[in-house]
Amino acid sequence: MKNYYIYYNNKYVRQNDATISVLSASAQFGLNVFEGIRVYKEDFYYVFRLDDHLKRLNNSLRLIGFDIKVITKKEFINILRELIILNKIDTDFSIRFTYLISEIDSWSSIKRPTFFIAPLIRKRNSSETYKTMFLTKIRRISKNAMNPKIKCGANYINGRYAMLEAKSKGADLPMLKNKNGYISESSGACVFLVKKGLILTPSLDCDILESITRDTVIKIFSDSNYKIEERLISETEFKESDEIFLCGSAAEITPINLIKNNNFKIGVTTKFIFDEYQLAITAKKYNMYSWTTKLDVKL
Ligand code: PMP
Repeated sequence: MKNYYIYYNNKYVRQNDATISVLSASAQFGLNVFEGIRVYKEDFYYVFRLDDHLKRLNNSLRLIGFDIKVITKKEFINILRELIILNKIDTDFSIRFTYLISEIDSWSSIKRPTFFIAPLIRKRNSSETYKTMFLTKIRRISKNAMNPKIKCGANYINGRYAMLEAKSKGADLPMLKNKNGYISESSGACVFLVKKGLILTPSLDCDILESITRDTVIKIFSDSNYKIEERLISETEFKESDEIFLCGSAAEITPINLIKNNNFKIGVTTKFIFDEYQLAITAKKYNMYSWTTKLDVKL
């Protein structure tokens, strides 16, 4: 990976020069909260759903007990502009925006967290790319033990165990059920099923992250009068669905091939949402929602 400039501790530094103590609460216990935000480069740079990412990060900060508010949108955009220029980024990329405790401390730390904003080069998905999936025995963490609504580093270790199980079965990605045995989410993305024209997705009480892309997908489908149900989904319904796709800022729209089929073809409903999502992220459609923040940066 290229040694890009990042913004860390109120300075622009090379990624390799941004250090934290090995005994810090973040390095040792995974104590951090973060967002992964996409920027798409066309005629301008389009940041997708920035307000919603900042809002969710504020929520995560509060829920994990960090007594601090996220920087303002204006401050964020100024830093982002500078990072685009310093790194001469002329393509799609993703931003990791993370609050962490960089000094030696316990998991119960109440120190003031610092933050970094780091660009990572990420191209948008092609509809030809699909993933295989395995329904794991590992269950999704639940609200009363480790709230999945908080986008915290340590929560991803649950996804790691599920991913290890999926990989051991030859699949690319895991699907996790929640503690009650209902379909929940994948390790870093939410799921949608299509059955006989009806679109289904686990409701927000199924131990899922309140995914911003899930919200985008629901709005796009509703605008085209598709029938959507957000509810509890059984393992049988999952296995008997006609189409499955994942969604997330990183996953975008990822078609799923559940039963390993070498002649897999993307389903019509998945193709529809894939194409509409591409239009949404670059402000070619759905502008009434103000999902994109347009930046004009000259390199
Ligand atoms: N679930 C989990 C566990 C995730 O890590 C992500 C990625 N942030 C998602 C769902 C999708 O969320 P979003 O659409 O907000 O990126």
